[in-house]
Amino acid sequence: MRGLHLLVALALLPSLGLASEPQPAAADAQVAQQAALQGLADGNSRFVDGKQAPHILGAERRRELAKGQHPQAIVLSCSDSRVPPEYVFDQQLGQVFVVRTAGNVADGVALGSIEYAVEHLGIPIIVVLGHRSCGAVTAALEAHRKHLHPHGNVAEILKLVMPAVLQAERAKAPDLLNASIDANVALEARALVKRSPILAERVKSGKLKIIRAVYDLETGKVDFAK
Ligand SMILES: [Zn+2]
Repeated sequence: MRGLHLLVALALLPSLGLASEPQPAAADAQVAQQAALQGLADGNSRFVDGKQAPHILGAERRRELAKGQHPQAIVLSCSDSRVPPEYVFDQQLGQVFVVRTAGNVADGVALGSIEYAVEHLGIPIIVVLGHRSCGAVTAALEAHRKHLHPHGNVAEILKLVMPAVLQAERAKAPDLLNASIDANVALEARALVKRSPILAERVKSGKLKIIRAVYDLETGKVDFAK
C-alpha cells in the first residue's frame, strides 16, 4: 500500500512542478564553471594559509583514476619550478589538466593538448596562469630593450611573448615587467580563442570560460582577473 502511495506521489510530482527539469546546457556549464573556479580559488587560499588538504596518492586512488580522468580545470601555466598548478591550487591527483610552457604561451602542441582536454574531457574552464618575476617575460623584455635577435628554440618562446612586451611599452606602463606579465596572460587568453575554432565555438556557446590569473611567488596568492 505504501508502495502504491509512493508511485502516486511520484506520478504527481511533474504536475506540481517538483520534478527535476532538464537544465539548459549553458546554465549547466555556468554552474560547472563556477564550481571549478571556486575549487581553484579555495585551494589557493589553503595554499596561501599553509593548510593544504592531505594529498591522496595511494593505490586505491590510482586504481580509481585508472578507469578514467575527470579533471575540472585546464591550467596553462609557466614551466617555472615555483609555479606548479597542483600545489598552487592545492589540487588532488586527477583534478587539473595542466599544460606548461616557459612564459605560459601556447604553441601548436600546447593548443592541441588544450583542445583535446576541452573536447574529450569536457572541461569547462581554462586558466591562463602567469606569474610575477617570470623569466621568459624578462628575457623577452631584455631582448627588446637591447635589440637582441635570439636564435634557436628559445626564440620561439620569445616570439610568442614579445607582443605583450610591445603592448606594455605602448601603454607607457611604469612597471614594464609586471605590465608585460599581465599583458602576456591577457593576450594568450585571447590568442587561444583566435587560433582555435574549437575553443572559440565553445566560448561563444557558453560551454567554456577562459580565465586570466597571475601568481605571486612570495605570497603564494593567485589573483584572478575580474
Ligand atoms: Zn615564468
